[in-house]
Amino acid sequence: MLLRDKVAVITGGAGLNGLGFATARQMAAHGARVVIVDLERADPASAASRLGDGHLGVVGDVTDKAACDAAIEQALKAYGRIDVLVNNAGITQPVKTLEITRADYDRILDVSLRGTLHMSQSVLPAMRRQQAGSIVCISSVSAQRGGGIFGGPHYSAAKAGVLGLARAMAREFGIEGIRVNCITPGLIETDITQGKLSPERKDAITETIPLNRLGRADDVAGACVFLASDLSVYCTGITLDVNGGMLIH
Ligand code: NAD
Repeated sequence: MLLRDKVAVITGGAGLNGLGFATARQMAAHGARVVIVDLERADPASAASRLGDGHLGVVGDVTDKAACDAAIEQALKAYGRIDVLVNNAGITQPVKTLEITRADYDRILDVSLRGTLHMSQSVLPAMRRQQAGSIVCISSVSAQRGGGIFGGPHYSAAKAGVLGLARAMAREFGIEGIRVNCITPGLIETDITQGKLSPERKDAITETIPLNRLGRADDVAGACVFLASDLSVYCTGITLDVNGGMLIH
C-alpha cells in the first residue's frame, strides 16, 4: 500500500481504456482516495464508482479555471486534503504544420498546457498549507522526439510546454515540500489511438521499440504511482520515460 490514505486527483481519468483510469485503479489499489475530474460526457461519477467506495467523480473542464477551482473545492470538502495531482487530461490531432489553424492550436494547447497550469494553480494552495504534495504531469515522447508518430506539431509543442512548466514549478515549490515531475509515455494503446493506426503501421512502430510491444495504460499508471508515492521522495523536476525504449537519449 504505497498511497494509504492519500488523496489523489486525476484529470481526464474517466475514460475506462485511458491512462487516467488505469492510474485511478492502481492508486485506489494502493489505498488512495481518488478524485476523477473529467468532462461531463465522460461521466466521471460512474468511473469513480467503479473504483469502489470512498472515491469521487467530479465534472470539470481543465481549460476553465473556475471549474478547476470548483472541482478542487469539492475534493477538499469531501476529503480535507490533496496529496497528489495527476495532470493527465489531453487531446491530440494528427495534422501537419501547415494545416494547423488558430482554433486547432488553441484547442490542443488549452487542454494539455493551460489545463496543467490551471489544475496545478487550483491544488497548490492546499499543498502549500500541508507543506507536502506530488504533482505528476503527463507529457509525451512526442515532446522529446518532435512528434512524428501520431499527434501534430502543436501537440508536440503543448507537451514540450508541459515539461518546461513542470520543471519551473518543481524549482519554485520544492522548498515547500511539493514535488513536480513528468512522465513521457511512448505509444500507448488507448482511445486516443483507437482506430487511427493501421495494423501495418503498428507493426512498423513495434519494430522500433526495444521492448518489442506498444505500451499499455497500466505501464504508465505504475510510473504515476511511483512518482505519487514516497518511493520517489527525492525526485523532483524529473522526466520519467515510459516508452519501451522507443527513445533512448
Ligand atoms: P484518452 O482520450 O483515453 O484520455 C483523455 C481524457 O482526457 C479523456 O477521459 C477525456 O474526456 C479527458 N479530457 C479531454 N479534454 C478534457 C478537458 N478539457 N477537461 C477535462 N478532461 C478532459 O487518452 P489517453 O491516451 O489515456 O491520454 C491520457 C494522456 O496521456 C493525454 O494527456 C495524452 O496526451 C497523453 N499521452 C498519451 C499517449 C498514448 O499513446 N495514448 C502517449 C503520450 C501521452
